[in-house]
Amino acid sequence: MSRQQRTLFDTDPAPWELDDQSAQLVATVVYPTGPEQEFDYLVPTGLAEQTEPGRRVRAPLGKGDRLLTGYCVAVQQRRLSRRLKPIREVIDRRSLLSPSMLQLTHWIADHYLCSWGQVLESVIPAGVRVQAGTREAPLLRIEPSALRELSRLSLPAKQAAVMQVLAQSHKPMTPTQLARIAHCTQGPINVLRERGLIHVERGRTDVQDQASAAVPRQRRLTLNPDQQAAYQTLLDAIRSGEHHTLLIHGVTGSGKTEVYIQAIEEVVQRGAQAIVLVPEISLTPQTLERFRSRFDHVAVLHSHLSDPERHWHWQQIADGKIQVVVGARSAIFAPTPRLGLIVLDEEHESTFKQETAPRYHARDVARARAELEKVPLVLGSATPSLDSWHRAHSGPSQLIEMPRRVLDRPLPLVATIDLRNEVHSRHSRGAISRPLHQAITHALQEGGQVILLLNRRGFATHIQCPACGHVVRCPSCDIALTHHRTQDLALCHYCDHREPAPVDCPKCRFPGIKYGGLGTQRLEAEVQARFPGIPCLRMDTDTMQGRGAHEKALTAFRTGKVRILLGTQMIAKGLDFPNVTLVGVINADTALHLPDFRAAERTFHLLTQVAGRTGRGEKGGRVLVQTFNPEHPAIQAATRHDYEAFALQELPIRQMLGYPPFTAMVRLVIRGPAEALAHEFAARVAELLLAALEEAHVDSRLLGPAPAPFARLRGRYRFQLQVQGRDGQQLHNAVRKVTAKLQPPEEVQWIVDVDPLDML
Ligand code: ADP
Ligand code: ZN
Repeated sequence: MSRQQRTLFDTDPAPWELDDQSAQLVATVVYPTGPEQEFDYLVPTGLAEQTEPGRRVRAPLGKGDRLLTGYCVAVQQRRLSRRLKPIREVIDRRSLLSPSMLQLTHWIADHYLCSWGQVLESVIPAGVRVQAGTREAPLLRIEPSALRELSRLSLPAKQAAVMQVLAQSHKPMTPTQLARIAHCTQGPINVLRERGLIHVERGRTDVQDQASAAVPRQRRLTLNPDQQAAYQTLLDAIRSGEHHTLLIHGVTGSGKTEVYIQAIEEVVQRGAQAIVLVPEISLTPQTLERFRSRFDHVAVLHSHLSDPERHWHWQQIADGKIQVVVGARSAIFAPTPRLGLIVLDEEHESTFKQETAPRYHARDVARARAELEKVPLVLGSATPSLDSWHRAHSGPSQLIEMPRRVLDRPLPLVATIDLRNEVHSRHSRGAISRPLHQAITHALQEGGQVILLLNRRGFATHIQCPACGHVVRCPSCDIALTHHRTQDLALCHYCDHREPAPVDCPKCRFPGIKYGGLGTQRLEAEVQARFPGIPCLRMDTDTMQGRGAHEKALTAFRTGKVRILLGTQMIAKGLDFPNVTLVGVINADTALHLPDFRAAERTFHLLTQVAGRTGRGEKGGRVLVQTFNPEHPAIQAATRHDYEAFALQELPIRQMLGYPPFTAMVRLVIRGPAEALAHEFAARVAELLLAALEEAHVDSRLLGPAPAPFARLRGRYRFQLQVQGRDGQQLHNAVRKVTAKLQPPEEVQWIVDVDPLDML
């Protein structure tokens, strides 16, 4: 690693340094912003006891000796050959990071080409850093000597009650808490303090207890043979005390969650903790109830937590009071003191990748953490990412198949509807073809419910003038505006720019401007017109704005109040509704032609996931997929629920073209308000990269600079560089060599994305 400390400071040597040549205590510190390297500081004697890795410190930096907050990452006795500045203050009362979490964050910085300090700052929640929800207060605990003498002390009743409460409490209390629980005033407490039987210290206490209500307990289910086999493999891995990655390829409804839960029961019995990662959207009360009904101490970490809530949970986890942490991406950083297992469900989901720096993927971080802490990592999916699938077939991880649904419910029949034929049919005006219309009618007649997927929000997806061809675009993005009918707005889906929907062409004033393309709003209008009186609900980011909106909508559907649920991919994930007998995919091709090497994989995932929403009850279910490309291999494989066929077809293409999982990839995006300047800088970066790759003899390929598929966003021109190579470490080293020294012209910015998922 090249992060060497290189700053020498010209402060006068401290007196104790001059005459004492023996070793000194040195703290190494990294900063969340500013220079990337590590800095060494002297630890003054007065701070020696408090200074430890994982605590934050304040220390002077640079010529002006500006006091900055940084993270202490190492403390060592060292013989000094040069003078060091002393750290000034230790901020935290305890370490925020265990040694293995420090190692993990170091790995992230190294792998994702960002600074260690930046990673630390994003791993420790803001609410924890400011100790949100706690306040400074006197804390009372019983004197150890008094505790031993307790039975022999003869005290007045009130005082005895106070002592009893304190003796039984596992943590110190504030005077107010103590008085409340002991049903007394401050009087007896003060007497006991004066007598030296109660000890007082200053500390932090929670303003509010955040514990959630208890949930009725559920019994263990008896596992079916597939579940039993999977469970046994997990048990063996847990008991081995070593790291294993296990990939469970289990169709939706095969009972994976029950397997996770029983494996976690083993972990908890061994006195360890488990982390369960799910996509944010799957953190529904339903999911949580399943865990809460099986374990006493479950912490849930989601993005809606307030700072005090997050801090409180974090502290509970760090204190070892939590058995299972369930959460979205960032829960991989939960400070469990004795980790026993990590589960990552729906592992193919792209939301596990963070799209701001540090651009980590929770799956890869989970693997690194599981390796460091020598625990198993379980990945689960009905449609594994090709990356995980490839790893399971090429060696490092083990594959577990769960091909059948619980109770042998069959997978739904999937058929395609060729939209090319529909174009010529007089019956089909609009989004819903005749066969789909008939199927919906039939499903409703039989008392079933219907899900319709259309992965585009808004009413019309483009506004174009038939006279001059002008397409109405966002003034600051290279993106066509979408018509949203409720407010009659033309909206940019990227930057949220909004303008009144035009009635004539803004360019040539032709009065007949056309609103074309199909969004969920238009689909909703069509469904209401075709099936009058049938309650229907639209679910997309426009209708699901408020907190709880999602859950409310799902409840309306679950209880049968809503018969037709339509929406974007939001409805494709993880919902379990036994009464859904029909799923219709309005257009399977929306993602198929994006300029992204994972377009086919995404399409396959989405279709398979949405198909899994039906056939969960006794009535069975079917799926109709409307497409212009019925013979496309991804769509073909999805109709047969044949993951393996899809992988067998897609992987050789990836291999041939040198794409992941056969290579490592790094993407750089350079952007700026002036096109020429951004392009020039991108070309310069490309030159430097090429030189670095050649110098290190890295077998690699560099593409670009080229305009990014979204060539302009928020008024900035975007250029991309893409590097691929077989040896990830070599590749990263070469890129780091270049990025460490990049000096872009003013207003030009760059980002580096390792293992990118977003190719737009
Ligand atoms: P997955 O996570 O693979 O989608 P789940 O674990 O959610 O599957 O199981 C699907 C449904 O089947 C759930 O309602 C669950 O309660 C039920 N289930 C799971 N395992 C069993 C079992 N062994 N016996 C009976 N029902 C089960
Ligand atoms: Zn825009």
